Amino acid sequence: MQQPEPQPGTFFFPGPTEVRQDVLKAMLRQPIPHRGAEFHEIFSRIQAGMRDVFQTQRPVYVLTSSGTGGMEAAIRCAPRGRILALVNGAFGERFVKLAHECGREVDQIGFALGDVPDADEVGTRLEAGSYSALTMIHNESSTGALADVRAIARVARQSGVLTIVDSVSGVGGARLEFDAWEVDCVVSASQKALALPTGLAFAVVSENYLRAIEKVEGRGMYFDLLAFDSHGRNHETPATPAVSLIFALDRQVQAIVSEGIEARWARHEAMRVTMEQWVGRTRDALDIDVSILAKEGARSPTVTAVSLPSGMVSTDLVREVAERGYTIGTGYGALRSATFRVGHMGDHTVAGLESCLAAVAGGLRALRN
Ligand SMILES: *Cc1c(COP(=O)(O)O)cnc(C)c1O
Repeated sequence: MQQPEPQPGTFFFPGPTEVRQDVLKAMLRQPIPHRGAEFHEIFSRIQAGMRDVFQTQRPVYVLTSSGTGGMEAAIRCAPRGRILALVNGAFGERFVKLAHECGREVDQIGFALGDVPDADEVGTRLEAGSYSALTMIHNESSTGALADVRAIARVARQSGVLTIVDSVSGVGGARLEFDAWEVDCVVSASQKALALPTGLAFAVVSENYLRAIEKVEGRGMYFDLLAFDSHGRNHETPATPAVSLIFALDRQVQAIVSEGIEARWARHEAMRVTMEQWVGRTRDALDIDVSILAKEGARSPTVTAVSLPSGMVSTDLVREVAERGYTIGTGYGALRSATFRVGHMGDHTVAGLESCLAAVAGGLRALRN
C-alpha cells in the first residue's frame, strides 16, 4: 500500500535523503538532445559548481548509475597491480568484493566498526607490500565514522600508491578538498549529502590517475573514465545521460554554490554536534544506555549511528519514530538491529534535526516503558 508522502523536513533517512520541491520540479520538462547547445551550456554550468563542491580544478565526471557504479568505475580504471582495501565497515568491504569481481588482486586491512583507518598502520602495510592503489571510505555510512583522507593520501603518496576514495555520503556535507589533499580518485553519488534524487554518480581523478588509465586493459566501456574525460572536454558524457536528473543537478548545484561550500560544511558540522549533545542528554534524561558508535574525533557530520541498549531493536524504534511523523534508518549490515541511524545530510538544518530527535526521544521513551 502506498504511504502518504512525508512532510518536508521529516525524512532523515541515511540515503536517499530528502529532495527539495524546487529540485524535483526542475525535472518536469521535456528532455533535450544531449549533444546540443543547451545541454553544453547546462553541463558547463554544472561543471563550474561541482568543481567548487569537490574543491578541484579537475573536471567532474557525471555517471548515470548509483554510487556503486562510481566505485566500479574507479576499480576498473585503477592502475595495474595489487590493491589494498582499508575496511572499517560495510562500504569498505564493498570495495573488496567489487575489486575481486572485477578480477583484481586485492588485500585488505581491517579496522574496528566505528573506528577509522590509522595512517601509520596503513603506511607500514604499504611499505611491506607492493600495491598500485588503495581504496578507502571517507564517510563510512554503516557506522558514521569519518576518516582522515588527507593523512591516508599522504602516506599513500610516500609509497607511490594512488588513493581511491568513496565519498558517496561525504561530498557536499563533509569537508573534502580534492586538490589540496592530493587524492587520486574520489567518487560520490547524487542521493546523499548533495540532496538530489537517486541515479547519478560523480568521479574526479588526478592527472596521475588519468595517465595510468590508458595502460589498463579490460576496463570495459560504460565506466571508462578516460571516455568521460574526453567527452567532458566537449561538455558531454560518453552515452546518453539521465537528462532529467541533469536538470535537477543544475538547479541544486546553483543552490549549493549560493549557500557556499564552507557554509554547507559548517551546517553539517553543527548537526554532528547536535547529535552528540542529544545522545548525551537523552542518556541522562531517559536513563537509557544509548551511545554514538563512531569514536570521538572521527564522527561524521552527515550520518550518525547510535547504539541501542541490549533488548531494544532498531526496527521497533524506526516504527515508533514513523508514528511520530519522522523517518530514520535502522543500522546497516551487521549493525542492523543494534544501532539506528539518523541521516542529517543534504538540506537539513539543526532546527529540523532537533524536531526529528524529539520524535526519536519519544520513541525511545515508549520502548523503555
Ligand atoms: C550509499 C553509499 C554507497 C553507494 O550505494 P549505492 O546504493 O550504489 O548508491 C557507497 N558508499 C557509501 C559510503 C554509501 O554511503
